[in-house]
Amino acid sequence: MSSTKFDVIVLGSGPGGYVAAIRASQLGLKTAVVEAADLGGICLNWGCIPTKALIKSAQVFEYINHAEDYGISVEKASVNFDDMIKRSRNVADGMSKGIQFLFKKIKLKNLRVGEK
Ligand SMILES: Cc1cc2nc3c(=O)[nH]c(=O)nc-3n(C[C@H](O)[C@H](O)[C@H](O)COP(=O)(O)OP(=O)(O)OC[C@H]3O[C@@H](n4cnc5c(N)ncnc54)[C@H](O)[C@@H]3O)c2cc1C
Repeated sequence: MSSTKFDVIVLGSGPGGYVAAIRASQLGLKTAVVEAADLGGICLNWGCIPTKALIKSAQVFEYINHAEDYGISVEKASVNFDDMIKRSRNVADGMSKGIQFLFKKIKLKNLRVGEK
């Protein structure tokens, strides 16, 4: 059975974990990140990023409803929550894939919990 040795193993790939792992790797340390769920942690997948994407949709809706204040006439706007949520999930997934890409680029090992 083969085994790999690391200088640094980071548990969790949230903003705390992935930044620390990237820095350790940049400093020349053989680094791995162990993640139980999605790369990017709560912030990228459920917290900061998807909520801000939803807020942006609400802001656009607000702008449209006040378009006449800016001299623009718009037919009545309506909200499609499914599409709003889909956009929010796409933004979050894109950010998570961005971390995956970065990890690969700098050859930083990303392990799922239970993976050897
Ligand atoms: C709805 C919401 C909105 C938010 N909005 C903002 C915002 O706008 N701005 C802001 O600054 N902050 C915001 N936050 C807070 C932000 O999400 C957290 O501060 C940030 O995620 C903390 O980062 P972290 O790396 O410490 O932990 P986390 O992001 O929680 O990441 C921890 C990671 O560790 C993994 N993990 C846990 N245990 C193990 C284990 N035993 N083995 C392997 N992996 C494990 C988890 O799966 C997770 O991926 C928001 C939070 C929420 C819930």
